[in-house]
Amino acid sequence: MLLVFHDCIVIGAGLAGMRAAIEAARSGLDVAVVTKIYPVRSHSVAAQGGINAALGKTDSWEAHMFDTVKGSDYLGDQDAIEVMCRQAPSDILELEKMGAVFSRSAEGMIAQRPFGGAGYPRTCYLADRTGHGMLHVMYEQLLKHGIFIYDEWHVLKLVVEDGEVRGVVALELDTGKLHRLHSKAVIVATGGYGRVYRTTTNALSSTGDGMGLALDAGLPLMDMEFVQFHPTVLPRTGILMTEGARGEGGFLLNSKGERFMEKYAPSVKELASRDVVSRAEQTEIEEGRGVDGCVLLDLRHLGAEKIKSRLSQIRGLAMDFAGVDPVVSPVPVKPGAHYSMGGIAVDKDGQTALPGLFAAGESACVSVHGANRLGGNSLLETIVFGRRAGASVARYCEATEAKPFPDSALKDACHSVAMVLKRSGGESIYAIRKEMNDAMEDFCGIFRNSVRLKKGYEKIRELRERYKKAALTDKSECFNNELLGYFELGQMLDISECILLGAMNREESRGSHSRTDFPKRDDEKWLRHTLVYKENGEFRLDYRNVSITKFKPQERKY
Ligand SMILES: Cc1cc2nc3c(=O)[nH]c(=O)nc-3n(C[C@H](O)[C@H](O)[C@H](O)COP(=O)(O)OP(=O)(O)OC[C@H]3O[C@@H](n4cnc5c(N)ncnc54)[C@H](O)[C@@H]3O)c2cc1C
Repeated sequence: MLLVFHDCIVIGAGLAGMRAAIEAARSGLDVAVVTKIYPVRSHSVAAQGGINAALGKTDSWEAHMFDTVKGSDYLGDQDAIEVMCRQAPSDILELEKMGAVFSRSAEGMIAQRPFGGAGYPRTCYLADRTGHGMLHVMYEQLLKHGIFIYDEWHVLKLVVEDGEVRGVVALELDTGKLHRLHSKAVIVATGGYGRVYRTTTNALSSTGDGMGLALDAGLPLMDMEFVQFHPTVLPRTGILMTEGARGEGGFLLNSKGERFMEKYAPSVKELASRDVVSRAEQTEIEEGRGVDGCVLLDLRHLGAEKIKSRLSQIRGLAMDFAGVDPVVSPVPVKPGAHYSMGGIAVDKDGQTALPGLFAAGESACVSVHGANRLGGNSLLETIVFGRRAGASVARYCEATEAKPFPDSALKDACHSVAMVLKRSGGESIYAIRKEMNDAMEDFCGIFRNSVRLKKGYEKIRELRERYKKAALTDKSECFNNELLGYFELGQMLDISECILLGAMNREESRGSHSRTDFPKRDDEKWLRHTLVYKENGEFRLDYRNVSITKFKPQERKY
């Protein structure tokens, strides 16, 4: 059999994966990117509102750092946050040199809009299509550097031999064939897991695969209980109405026409951080001041011209998916699962605890977002820490010899695929997936308590058992989406259990994790990161200290 070898394999062609691949290739490495969907369909393409950097004359990286630390409810690691905020301006300028287009101010500078939790307008944007602009530019760079792309290949396994990573086993979706890809290093950049929830802004492909692969390789996931619910998504579809809509001056109203955020965050109102706004909305809805299970996003006072120039995409989405033109009527919105603060535990250079394995982007937890991410900081994380992971892989590969792995890993994967395809008469994966989505949304949503969390945990345990006997109706080899869905579901069930375990255990309220039975933040017991390991199919918790350098924890008010 042909032996396929690269110095570095990057799993994922979103912004983090592509940025990492480019940096590694610049050092002369042979780099390949494996992606289960076409690169420019990666979820990064959907990012709307923008990317943060302290470019303004009176802004500073220290102010950006303080806002991020406060936004994280003091759980973010301050050494990592400092790296991100210091490097943001030069990374944005580099992006621009690569060809990324940003909206401009009247003076011709990169325009910046206010975003939630930020003390300064520091979110650079391209209208409401920032991710689209950035991802296409990054893809051009990928092609320019001659990086090989395994398009529509789904990674099923990280191969670990003698305590180091040696490559991956992947399924080629259009033929159904399994392949071994050997490498000295692997970078996981597979994005978030939003699809474990029923209402989510995330793409169908955001199923947290890389986090599951890392768990199976014996690595810990960090801070999984922290799930960000975005305050403004369309009901039913979960389509996002960017925070930029509030950044441009949009209001949130309840059924009485009140700007209810005045009550919850008197000084910054709609521009409080996302956890605060989502909780306020949910409270209004639960206390009977909602409108058909939603609140209203009112943009009418911004005027047609501003809406059409700065928020044209979300206007189109509101018209197509909610039947409402924001120029003439308020848009019904509610909170929806949006972002994974937790992920594979890595250091500031993207290194995991396993030699040769690196992670970056939403699948990693550095941790720069702690208990709550600020809008505009995730695109920034993909660029800064994608670049750093690529550079540290280059250093690692220079000092490491290529060692292929035996074909037993491939044989094991072939055997499991054959067994799944052969099984008949079992339950459908779609039924199990729906019950998982319902359990996570109903029992592990914005407001949590021990009774609900326990119900959710028991449900997921039951679903994990049922999953083992699930059977597929599609037995074909060519583009078998049901087979892909089967593997994604397995990872999502593991991730759901990690989220629930972390949430049950953390008896306090911090950032996005809000326990009605423990409503206060408890720094004495819980100013620490949660780690979760998978051992023999069961999960085990552990803890790690938070890095606190410049800002001592204080009460968080907006
Ligand atoms: C609607 C929306 C709007 C957003 N707006 C903003 C914003 O304005 N500002 C901001 O800062 N953040 C925003 N975010 C968050 C931000 O866009 C994401 O966190 C970020 O883009 C994630 O990038 P990534 O490279 O980590 O992953 P992704 O872009 O999600 O890419 C994941 C990649 O992994 C690949 N992959 C996954 N599993 C496998 C597998 N098993 N085998 C092979 N390949 C695999 C996929 O094919 C894909 O290429 C938004 C998110 C959403 C959902």
